[in-house]
Amino acid sequence: MNKKIALFFRGKSAGYCVVALLLAIFLSGCATVPKPELPETKMPEAPLKDLCEKYNLVCKWDSLSQVISLKGYSLSAKALIDSNIVLVDEKKLFLNDNIRIKESVILVPGDFYSKVLEVLIKSETKETVYIEKKLPPALLRKEDFIVKKVNHIIIDAGHGGKDPGAIGRSGVQEKGVVLDIAKKLKSALEDKGFRVVLTRSNDEFKTLQERTEITSKSSADLFISIHANASKARSASGVEVYTFGDMTYSDKNEDQRKLNQKLVFRNLEMTKDDNELETIISDMYYSNKQSESEKLARTVIGSISKLVKSKYRGVKEERYFVLRNTLIPAILIEVGFLSNPREEKLLAHKSYRQKIANSIAKGVIEYVHQ
Ligand SMILES: [Zn+2]
Repeated sequence: MNKKIALFFRGKSAGYCVVALLLAIFLSGCATVPKPELPETKMPEAPLKDLCEKYNLVCKWDSLSQVISLKGYSLSAKALIDSNIVLVDEKKLFLNDNIRIKESVILVPGDFYSKVLEVLIKSETKETVYIEKKLPPALLRKEDFIVKKVNHIIIDAGHGGKDPGAIGRSGVQEKGVVLDIAKKLKSALEDKGFRVVLTRSNDEFKTLQERTEITSKSSADLFISIHANASKARSASGVEVYTFGDMTYSDKNEDQRKLNQKLVFRNLEMTKDDNELETIISDMYYSNKQSESEKLARTVIGSISKLVKSKYRGVKEERYFVLRNTLIPAILIEVGFLSNPREEKLLAHKSYRQKIANSIAKGVIEYVHQ
């Protein structure tokens, strides 16, 4: 806006203010300042969407990372669902409670007002600046608040190409069994409205690195890897689901993880090369991933144990590369033992593989609606 137009608008708004002021005095007998007021006392938890509208902030929620971005007049903030850490520009703040999602609504704790909103809103104090820089309502995109825990899922069929994975006594190969289950799971989830991408859709060899990079370049919310087991003990049987346990310092600094983190940050439009900020956000990702992977694993194994007559081996922790080096909630499902003659026979059947795929899909859907 050039100076002349700005002055015109300033003059015009001053005129309106006088009229409003007179009207206010006429109606109530006292004058008010036409600026959003911040609540001063202890506030209850409130929907983020309402606050963004009320205080005219541009707010966005990224389902991939669970990162919330808020833009004030000159400052911006980033926060994460299920975390109490907020970054206002590069300063780290702690809320008394976590930001959370309840019935598809993002709720922020009471002290969000004083610790975050106040800082963002008061970042420019002069009223003239406030009026000129007031963001047009069009920037408040309603769809940014449509909270969907999961939109996009990556399904990773283990092995492939030159790597057959486990091979049963009668020759059933893991790479074929898991690819078929992955395809069936894809269509079951697509039927329910999810966007699904396979890390491989035919008998090709993909490195573990490539599988995690496909995930990090996408905007996926969940990563599900499908494998079949093998054991020296032929009697070993059943289904088990793996998550990744606690990360060590060297895990966090693993080259592939760092590369994947960069790919994810690119999606988040984090252009500044700020190591501290990246460390904080990566910690946010980590705590979100740990708790959500565990929940997903439990609902999936619960669903499989109900729908498929197989031994329930439970949720376990393992340091698998694909679990360690993905930033989003990730699980690895061992759908049965190819070393067990009975399970090898079952896994060779199309209808059994369909049953497994349906039960995994049901578990995922149950997790999403939790
Ligand atoms: Zn495998």
